[in-house]
Amino acid sequence: MPKVLIATEKPFAAEAVQLIKAELDKAGYPHAWLENYTDPKDLHAAVADAEALIIRSDIVDEAVFNAAPDLKIVVRAGAGYDNIDLKAATAHNVVAMNTPGQNSNAVAELALAMMIYMARGKFNGKSGTELSGKKLVLYGFGFVARYLAKMAKGVGMEVFAYDPYLSAEIMTKEGVTALHSVEEIFKTGDYISLHIPATAETKKSINWDLLGLVKPACILINTARKEVIDEESLLKAFAEKKKFRYVSDIEPEKHAQLMELYADRYYCTPKKMGAQTEEANINAGVAAARQIVAFFEKGDKTYKVN
Ligand code: NAD
Repeated sequence: MPKVLIATEKPFAAEAVQLIKAELDKAGYPHAWLENYTDPKDLHAAVADAEALIIRSDIVDEAVFNAAPDLKIVVRAGAGYDNIDLKAATAHNVVAMNTPGQNSNAVAELALAMMIYMARGKFNGKSGTELSGKKLVLYGFGFVARYLAKMAKGVGMEVFAYDPYLSAEIMTKEGVTALHSVEEIFKTGDYISLHIPATAETKKSINWDLLGLVKPACILINTARKEVIDEESLLKAFAEKKKFRYVSDIEPEKHAQLMELYADRYYCTPKKMGAQTEEANINAGVAAARQIVAFFEKGDKTYKVN
């Protein structure tokens, strides 16, 4: 039976661990656990005899593949898979997968909480504003954005979205108004929430050409990836637009500077915590284990990303 290594620098919640074990035990697959490691060499040693690997935000690069001659499949328990070197995976004949949709509700709830937190001046005791009646624009309309759209409508927001890879009908079906250009996103939103992946196309794409367009009191929410923002332009937005606010689940490179200069209009979670709920851990972890079993038993490659 294929041996599965679960390598998590940031471990799964305890209940998720039990359920993943149960799933692999049911299939009769042996499993090993490497948790809380800090040195990549520990991962290289642990993966040496593994045929399958489950990870979270752990880096899986060429060195990991070189250390894992028997590896057939790596599954990222989560949505973003920019921590896996996909070219190296393919070169080593390893199937890479993610578990789409399994942690999206958790991320959407955090985005909504962040919007309220910023609208209420980081709970500073002074008069704030309400979400109801305001325009929310979702940049990217995948799993997280769709959950957030439902929640935002529930609190009375008007919801818009832009996603060049999806038809306007999909947005209309979800009760969301489709926008037709990136510029429109930045002109329209009282709140703009980012839900795009970090790709060659999107990295640093949110620059001054776009941030210069935002409404004076716009609140920008980032639960996606820090790489999509050009941080020099972000600093310029804070400097030029005195009510502009930015809230993020991923610490920017310029975190210290932002805290020093704009602490009243900026917030970042101390650690990335969008997917950090027991429910999301369980959903993504169990899905990863099931995908591995389905891959070996039935050749199922449904969630392959390379
Ligand atoms: P998803 O794959 O379901 O949706 C991404 C959407 O972005 C897709 O609909 C795609 O068509 C669209 N897209 C791709 N390139 C685009 C472009 N250039 N312009 C506009 N749209 C584009 O992903 P998701 O699960 O909704 O996750 C969204 C983002 O959130 C990803 O960056 C993911 O890595 C991140 N994420 C963060 C956390 C966290 O812990 N903070 C957890 C899960 C996901």
